[in-house]
Amino acid sequence: MKEISAGGVVYRKREGKLELQLIQDRYGKISLPKGKMEPGETIEETALREIWEETGIRGRIVSKLDTIHYQYALPQTGTVDKEVHYYLVEAETGDLQAQIEEIRSVDWFSPQEAWVKQKGSGYDNNDHILLKACEELGIQPDQQ
Ligand code: ATP
Repeated sequence: MKEISAGGVVYRKREGKLELQLIQDRYGKISLPKGKMEPGETIEETALREIWEETGIRGRIVSKLDTIHYQYALPQTGTVDKEVHYYLVEAETGDLQAQIEEIRSVDWFSPQEAWVKQKGSGYDNNDHILLKACEELGIQPDQQ
């Protein structure tokens, strides 16, 4: 079975400083907001809708970051081949609020804090997504 999801690295500027959003997913890992594509949607629309639903933030797409692939097993359907499309997204409006049916929590972090959290409790295949977002934003979180 194939599953396609989309989401992103969401950022905002606070008093001249950049902050990045990270979530704790329902499995307890640090990750990025994302969710499954629905019929009739473009992949960009999926990313923005899922970010809004899961975190309360409405944003705009700045650029495409990358697509990751992984597999996981479901008891009934067997192996799921998952594809997740990630975008760099600038937060525009909304109040941060985790949709607790989907994720455990969401918060803003400095790029350095976000990188430490990602390295400590994130999925390895999201490392380069976060680094690419930082690169596009002109920051080097792993060298400070
Ligand atoms: P979606 O947010 O797309 O609706 P979901 O919550 O149904 O997704 P996933 O987040 O893909 O499903 O999680 C399914 C399984 O895959 C879980 O065991 C989860 O820990 C694992 N998983 C989630 N993200 C990743 C990843 N980036 N790399 C590897 N495994 C992951």
